[in-house]
Amino acid sequence: EVVVLRLGHRPGRDDRMTTHIGLTARALGADRVLFVGDANQSARTVRDITDRFGGPFSAEVIEAYRPLIRDWEGSVVHLTMYGERVEDVEGEIRTAHAEEPLLIVVGSEKVPFEVYEHADWNVGVTNQPHSEVAALAVFLDRLFEGRELDREWEDADREVIPKAVGKRVVEAESGPPDDAPGDATPDSTDE
Ligand code: SAM
Repeated sequence: EVVVLRLGHRPGRDDRMTTHIGLTARALGADRVLFVGDANQSARTVRDITDRFGGPFSAEVIEAYRPLIRDWEGSVVHLTMYGERVEDVEGEIRTAHAEEPLLIVVGSEKVPFEVYEHADWNVGVTNQPHSEVAALAVFLDRLFEGRELDREWEDADREVIPKAVGKRVVEAESGPPDDAPGDATPDSTDE
């Protein structure tokens, strides 16, 4: 199991970023995302996307992250620009993940030092400052060695059919396609 924990949600300011952490976690192979604090709107958005585009994936809001990190039965990776180079530690982390659940922690503003101390690995995706969404995406792709790109989705209402130009969305599995022949114009599904 791979669980993403997003620390330090600031309502209003962080809403889109927190939602994007959830959507990125889902799209790139994690099983769950946990938001801390007042992030119900982001959790609802991620659940709504999961209902439409498939899962399994869950988004939850938790009150306190300290007990979660402290009592996590598995390994903890904290993504930080100050950490060890992802290319140096990804192998060890993959080996650990084969044995036990992995908690991936990302921050927003300053992350308390105790998170650095509790992490089994503090991992930098480069040692340059960028974004928690970018760090998570690259880390998951490294962890799964690209296999997450081929994942099958269950219980989706709709599925995007890859297209060189235009947008094609069909009802998933049983349903008929909702684009008429020759219809290459954008439809209403614009995620
Ligand atoms: N200045 C904050 C600090 O010192 O903790 C971090 C701000 S950064 C915008 C927010 C989050 O993005 C970090 O907590 C970290 O999870 C992630 N992040 C940013 N750059 C990163 C990098 N190069 N490698 C890994 N994670 C990174």
